[in-house]
Amino acid sequence: MPELPEVETTRRGISPHLVGQTIRAAIIREPRLRWPVPADLPEKLEGRLIRDVGRRGKYILIGTEGGTLIVHLGMSGSLRIPDPDTPPRKHDHFDLVLASGTRLRFHDPRRFGCVVWTEADPATHPLLAELGPEPLNEHFDAPYLHGKARSRSAPVKSFIMDSRIVVGVGNIYTNEALFRAGIDPRRQAGRIALVRYEKLVASIRAVLAEAIEQGGTTLRDFVNENGRPGYFQQTLQIYGRSGELCRRCGGPVRTERLGQRSTYWCPKCQH
Ligand SMILES: [Zn+2]
Repeated sequence: MPELPEVETTRRGISPHLVGQTIRAAIIREPRLRWPVPADLPEKLEGRLIRDVGRRGKYILIGTEGGTLIVHLGMSGSLRIPDPDTPPRKHDHFDLVLASGTRLRFHDPRRFGCVVWTEADPATHPLLAELGPEPLNEHFDAPYLHGKARSRSAPVKSFIMDSRIVVGVGNIYTNEALFRAGIDPRRQAGRIALVRYEKLVASIRAVLAEAIEQGGTTLRDFVNENGRPGYFQQTLQIYGRSGELCRRCGGPVRTERLGQRSTYWCPKCQH
């Protein structure tokens, strides 16, 4: 599943091809995504100038004069800039055709992604209105997390993965950040001191920033049909390492399902 760093890398990869361009046409090949793509979307988009390509959580926001196209990659989605004469493949559900001839192509085998149009402020759209702060934004800090955690008995890992608390910190990066911060993922969110949340915030920022930086080296993949976004070649310190030894202390890595998600930690290094 694309996580925040993959989505941000996608945003950076496609943005230079879109901004300042006029939309000539939109082609819907399969409207049955997570939410149906409205049939009148092509006529709404035609002739609009793309002003910017933003991101909120894992949503990519293609901003035009008078409206925003909200795209989510779901479980298996990707956005590409194919060569103009590349015919669509199976699962290429949506194309944005620009006046320059460039195309933005949405591919999603599992169809959990979405392409939604809004003419209101996208921040007020039901998909985005309830989202917590961005993890790389300055409003996300330890006092905020500590305050939100007050009297919560949920495990800190589930707390961090709740998009109303902070957006876009998925399973892999939560495991990695908790390992770096030395916090046991099962610990109750409300029983963690402010100073430890400071470490956790720094760790979340660091793992995401490093993944985005790694993604920068794969940007060329966004301009052809061959590359897969996949996961960056970042070395994972704890995720997926069950049965292996902790890179820090050499002790065994433990694994368990927590909130139905695979959870990995080192009982010696994480408390
Ligand atoms: Zn360890």
